[in-house]
Amino acid sequence: MFKPQIDTQEPRPTCLEVDLGQLAANYHAILAHLGGVPAMPILKANAYGHGLVPVAKLMEHLGAPILGLAFLEEAIALRRAGITSPILVLGGILGNQIPRFLEHDLILSASSVDKLQAIDACATAVGVRARVHLKIDTGMERIGVHWYSAEALLEASLRCASVDVLGIFSHLSTSDEADTSLTRLQLERFCEVLRFYEARSLPCPVRHLANSGAVLQHPDTWFDLVRPGILTYGVLPSDQVPVTVPVQPALTWKSRVVYFKVVQAGQPVSYGATWAPADWTRVVTVPVGYGDGYPRALSNRAEVLIGGQRLPVRGRVCMDQIMADLGRGEAYNGDEVVLLGRQGDQRVTVEALAAWVGTIPYEILTGINTRVPRIYLNDPFA
Ligand SMILES: *Cc1c(COP(=O)(O)O)cnc(C)c1O
Repeated sequence: MFKPQIDTQEPRPTCLEVDLGQLAANYHAILAHLGGVPAMPILKANAYGHGLVPVAKLMEHLGAPILGLAFLEEAIALRRAGITSPILVLGGILGNQIPRFLEHDLILSASSVDKLQAIDACATAVGVRARVHLKIDTGMERIGVHWYSAEALLEASLRCASVDVLGIFSHLSTSDEADTSLTRLQLERFCEVLRFYEARSLPCPVRHLANSGAVLQHPDTWFDLVRPGILTYGVLPSDQVPVTVPVQPALTWKSRVVYFKVVQAGQPVSYGATWAPADWTRVVTVPVGYGDGYPRALSNRAEVLIGGQRLPVRGRVCMDQIMADLGRGEAYNGDEVVLLGRQGDQRVTVEALAAWVGTIPYEILTGINTRVPRIYLNDPFA
């Protein structure tokens, strides 16, 4: 029989367990698949909800050559936590942020000639060398110089006084889809841009293009470095990709029963009175809600695990509480409730949560609020 464990040291009955051993195994599985191409793990958005600093420390210990983030402030948080690895900030930058990049020894993405020149001017003024990766837009239409105008950026990069161009990259918009035609086109455009270096007999900076979808199914996009995000966390970018890397998810989102009652037939449960039982039923209350990132769209849709059983969430998800229907089953105050992950031989996947909400696993993972304490398990370097 399933026996929940009770740990009275938990700061809150609701917590997110992060299996660092599993994240390490995922990173190694990705490297084995790549057969020699290095990987820059992507740690943006609180490491896809797993906790920025602990995941960065793990990846640094595992020998990741460089870490990828979206924003300056994420990178500064890592520097303040003592992370000394190279860090590339992938997102767009504003001119007033440049001194901060230089101060914290961060690698910038130069996504236009103007921005590159602003970086150069700032580095020259401060008297340091700026390190950049050039960002080419090959079809995503987000940031970067269009592939058909890229020559101006590459030319300008040769004329900078204080900039070292360490890399050049682009981003794929459909690498996780069964239809590979746009990926093929983006790859061709990227190669076309790279011919600039060959034509001038110049050494090419580190080239990178592949996100998780491309790591899984497009080896010809791997170049000198890949950028796996969600795959590092053991989750597939979509259900259309071949599962060519044996990764497993690392999260278990847990809470505990804090209240038990019998609801009589016809008595509606939670805000809006959206559900009432046809016959009396046993209902428990669990202290987690949309204020933790358990989406309100899960109201009357999700299932949770209690006592190794799948049980429906009834009524609306509140900010801090949900109700689950035991039927004729039993549960007691303090019993473990699993919202995401395994309990006994049952499992709630992030894909299931995403499907119930009508979104993608990325949004569920990154939405788990910082109010939920993270607990780190199996730290291989602890
Ligand atoms: C987020 C991001 C990635 C990682 O994407 P996944 O689909 O999670 O692998 C890679 N590169 C860039 C530029 C990104 O913004």
